[in-house]
Formats: sequence, structure tokens, C-alpha cells
Amino acid sequence: MEEYVTDAIVLKKEPSGESDMRYALFSERFGKISAKAKSSRRIVSKLAGHLEPGTVAKVRFIDKGSAQIVDALKSSRVDISPADLRFLNDLLPDLQADPDLWIQLTRQAFSWRDILRTLGWDPRGAVCSLCGRKATWFFIPRQEFLCDSCVLKMGKNKISYIRIED
Ligand SMILES: [Zn+2]
Repeated sequence: MEEYVTDAIVLKKEPSGESDMRYALFSERFGKISAKAKSSRRIVSKLAGHLEPGTVAKVRFIDKGSAQIVDALKSSRVDISPADLRFLNDLLPDLQADPDLWIQLTRQAFSWRDILRTLGWDPRGAVCSLCGRKATWFFIPRQEFLCDSCVLKMGKNKISYIRIED
């Protein structure tokens, strides 16, 4: 069975079934992948400390139809808030390696303006998609720019908005 090894940032973890854990990783080699740490609590607990959100780890996994983590070794941490890690998980496409983004996330100060630019949504001079005023937010579900007053009108679900103003 083929094994893969890559450095990866842990974006998210959640319990899966009785004792498994499912992880969302942004990996250097493969981009965003969803991977499971399987079945035995022993393995999950052995890996747990190496796979907290915000951790950068060398991850070894096998592909059994879906990715299954067999080993992980923590190397460092990124200075990215839990909320921003969730936003990244929502925003990043599956299985698309992005060397520029990898360098940005692991070696540079976190900046949504820089990240959105790398992902193809340049916030410089961006205008609100509803009213054309200067944009101050990026709305994740529709991947569009909005201004303060349109965000207010759209309601309070701040979970889905990224502030892009300096
Ligand atoms: Zn607007």
C-alpha cells in the first residue's frame, strides 16, 4: 500500500464515530486534505498531541479510498487564531497544492489581505459586490467582497466574514 509523507498545518479536528478523529490538513505536497486517524484509541491518543489545530507536523498517511493517518510528528506551530484556521478550512480548495500559500502560512505574519491575494481575490481596490462601495469584508460562502453597511444588513452571522481592512 502506498504511503505518503508531507508537512501539513492542522486546520481542524473533529471526532468521527466511536473513537476515530477526522482532521482537515493544509499540506505542502497535496494542498487541503481530509484524513482520519483510525479506530484504536491508542493510535488516536498517540497522535493527538501532534495534531492539534495550528500545529505544523510531518504527517504520514496511506490512501485507503480516503486518507488515513498512520503517523505524525509535530515540528512547529503557526501563529493563526482558531477562527482564522476555520476560515482557511472553509476557503481552501481540496487537493490543490499551493507553494506560495504554504510559505505564507508557515513563514510569514498572518494576513488575510495577502492570503486572499494569493488565492486570487485581491482585496486592493475591491468594491462591495452589492452596492459598489469600498469593500471591508470578504464573505466566505459566496466568495465575494462586501462593505460595512451591506454586512450589517445581511445579518449577524459573523462566522462567515473575514475583515479585510488594514
Ligand atoms: Zn455594500
